[in-house]
Amino acid sequence: MDLLFGELASFLSHAMIVVMVALMFVISLRLFLDRRKKAYMSMTISLIFVGIHFLLQLYFMFSSIHTSLADYSQIMLKIISFVLINMGIYQLYNRTNRKQYTFFYGLIVMGFVVSTLHFIVPNIYSGTDHQVRLLQNIGLELYVFVLIFLCFYMIPPYIGQQMKYQLALTIYFLFQTSQLLNTYVYDNAQPVLILAVNILPVIYYFLLFMILFERVVELMQAIYNSSITDGLTRLYNRRFFYNRVTQHVQRHLPVYILFSDIDNFKKLNDTQGHQMGDNVLKQVAQIMKDEAEECGIAGRYGGEEMVILVSDPSVKMDAFAERIRSRIEKETIVTASIGYSKYKTGLSAEELIKQADEAMYRAKTTGKNKVVKFA
Ligand code: GH3
Ligand code: MG
Ligand code: MG
Repeated sequence: MDLLFGELASFLSHAMIVVMVALMFVISLRLFLDRRKKAYMSMTISLIFVGIHFLLQLYFMFSSIHTSLADYSQIMLKIISFVLINMGIYQLYNRTNRKQYTFFYGLIVMGFVVSTLHFIVPNIYSGTDHQVRLLQNIGLELYVFVLIFLCFYMIPPYIGQQMKYQLALTIYFLFQTSQLLNTYVYDNAQPVLILAVNILPVIYYFLLFMILFERVVELMQAIYNSSITDGLTRLYNRRFFYNRVTQHVQRHLPVYILFSDIDNFKKLNDTQGHQMGDNVLKQVAQIMKDEAEECGIAGRYGGEEMVILVSDPSVKMDAFAERIRSRIEKETIVTASIGYSKYKTGLSAEELIKQADEAMYRAKTTGKNKVVKFA
């Protein structure tokens, strides 16, 4: 019973949260040291607050200090760490400007404002000092609900993992409700509420941990993606493409290389400007990507040279290359010359690509805007 409802349960719950917060702290500190972005700094700072909050709670639990002032500082810390951690999550996905800082810090300041209401309350309510303190604390606890609702509606549109985030806030809402009922209404006598107060925050912090962890994975993935793609066209870059071809060739897979080069591209740049040239490159790249999607991968080999590794042996290469050529002609203001070649045992990746390049070169020298097979 003690494991579920007693002091031990409360201790376990707090201990688990401290561990999760420590893990999150390590991750965000690491991110901050690596990348020096403000977002990770406030995540780190907010986690320090959360850590202090829970360590203090553990301390109060065992030293059984139970003054209204202790309660007050606990609630204030809860508010500060709640706001900061939600700001941290917002910042995982956004640059924060002055307006947003004002918003988040304003929420904390509002907390202090709400907490000074007890100076006004005695004038209209003549209770004992203790009762007034109690009112002040309840006022603050109710303010937490305002914060939950604000975060629930204002933050999700700007971040990823919205469902997970809203689930976390819902859990926190249930936790806050249980805690209020437990403390102020049932005076720690309702087993269900005690259970909820112990378990819900663990789930809340676990979800926050998952959000942070997923975001880190996302960021890593984004870095990896940008290291293998070309920034302008979003096609795979030369190095990645070449490695893929090598892998296929080493396994003697029946692949084709298609090599395309835009016709008279220099002239387009000279007459219509570099910006126009870039736009055309993007259009052509999109066509290559569309067409390669089902049967292989497309890459940018050089300036206006794009390549496709066709790894599906059932593709009819002549029709495939012709479709690309004709789409470029119809959908853009340029044309392209295309060459392709088939892998034969003994060829290296470099030789295979070179053959396709040679076929393309023959398309150029025999009139451009056509498809030539390497022979
Ligand atoms: P050809 O029909 O023989 O292929 O003629 P071309 O003008 O297309 O051939 P060339 O290789 O001489 O010119 C390629 C031009 O592509 C040169 C360069 O200005 C342009 N280019 C290369 N990379 C980029 C780029 O990223 N953006 C833009 N706008 N132009 C580029
Ligand atoms: Mg060229
Ligand atoms: Mg060209």
